[in-house]
Amino acid sequence: MTHKDLLAVAKEYDSPVYVYDAAVIQSQYKRLKNAFNKVENLRINYAVKALSNIAILQLLQEQGAGLDTVSAQEVRLGLAAGVPAEHIIFTPNGVSLSEIEQVAKLGVQINIDNLSILEQFGTRHPKTPVCVRINPHVMAGGNANISVGHIDSKFGISIHQIPLLLRIVENTGMHINGIHMHTGSDILDIDVFLHAAEILFDTASHFENLEFLDFGSGFKVPYNEGDIETNIEELGDKLATRFNAFEKDYGKPLTLAFEPGKFLVSAAGRFLVSVNVVKQTTSTVFAQVDSGFNHLIRPMLYGSQHHIHNISNPEGRERFYSVVGYICETDTFASNRRIAEITEGDILAFENAGAYCFSMASNYNSRYRPAEVLFIDGKAQLIRERETFEDLLKHQIPLQGKKMEKKTASTENA
Ligand SMILES: *Cc1c(COP(=O)(O)O)cnc(C)c1O
Repeated sequence: MTHKDLLAVAKEYDSPVYVYDAAVIQSQYKRLKNAFNKVENLRINYAVKALSNIAILQLLQEQGAGLDTVSAQEVRLGLAAGVPAEHIIFTPNGVSLSEIEQVAKLGVQINIDNLSILEQFGTRHPKTPVCVRINPHVMAGGNANISVGHIDSKFGISIHQIPLLLRIVENTGMHINGIHMHTGSDILDIDVFLHAAEILFDTASHFENLEFLDFGSGFKVPYNEGDIETNIEELGDKLATRFNAFEKDYGKPLTLAFEPGKFLVSAAGRFLVSVNVVKQTTSTVFAQVDSGFNHLIRPMLYGSQHHIHNISNPEGRERFYSVVGYICETDTFASNRRIAEITEGDILAFENAGAYCFSMASNYNSRYRPAEVLFIDGKAQLIRERETFEDLLKHQIPLQGKKMEKKTASTENA
């Protein structure tokens, strides 16, 4: 997508608006698939929580992807998008037995990550095949908030509990058809990942009727120049070789599964905002935009860095700005960034806004969640309308004895 395409989207659909480039999603999918082309049976299940618009799910399904889901609602979104139940895996954490039963009834592959629910589910539904999520206790990446394989993590069944896991399987007569791990969000070191894979192979050798091994995700994408990016091709080459050898030893065909979110959609997304105010203080020049952490919370939540371009004045002289929002709270998107000179009314584009951006948006400050646009085959297609005032009021109930005023002043472009 060119700056011109982006400006045209901002003009037609107003700001703030999310824009996704279909070609980037498609090429990331193909790249991952090619990296593992030595594997006979490969399954890529897109992690819906990264970006859950049904048009995106449909686009990925067209490529051949299945879905990785973490709630009954994500499962229903997948089904609504037309993805068949047998191409969906449910990998929740800490959800109730009844939610798991509800999803299992739809024919979706269940993945259980604790022994308590495993025992209860296996006792009640011994015939339903279940995958188990193990925790290999390998620290992937450095951030404990997004690294979920370490010893204190709430995710997965500890590998030290495998004997108890095996006893539950034996006692209930349940059928384990997959082993899963998801070590965290950043694979910085391929050898660390391969070490965790060995633990998964080791665990898998305890089970006789497996159909798939799921290695989760953790493919790191670069946000800034100089950032480490997981070398997918090297990982694919090494893991495929090891997987094929394991499959031979195992003696039955196995599917290798992955569930990437960020890798598939992060770089495809841009978030366009408009500058309301340029404000000079004694120490800083602020560019205040028509957004905040209600629309994009990653910088405040994770300290993530999103490149920001002034697409209204790309050739302008660069100056230093702190880009902040319009929320009544500290909502700093970027401090002291070099950006082409900003004038009020300019459109800024945040890069890497495909994953965990819109899907984490809220209505804080009673603002609308933005529109979403998919750029596909050279055209911009609206895939979600901006919310309206009616959406804010939709589920609210007035105080008893009072009514809702029908005529509410229109502030539609607020
Ligand atoms: C969030 C999540 C993913 C996707 O992680 P990314 O870093 O976006 O690739 C995959 N699997 C599970 C179980 C998850 O919770």
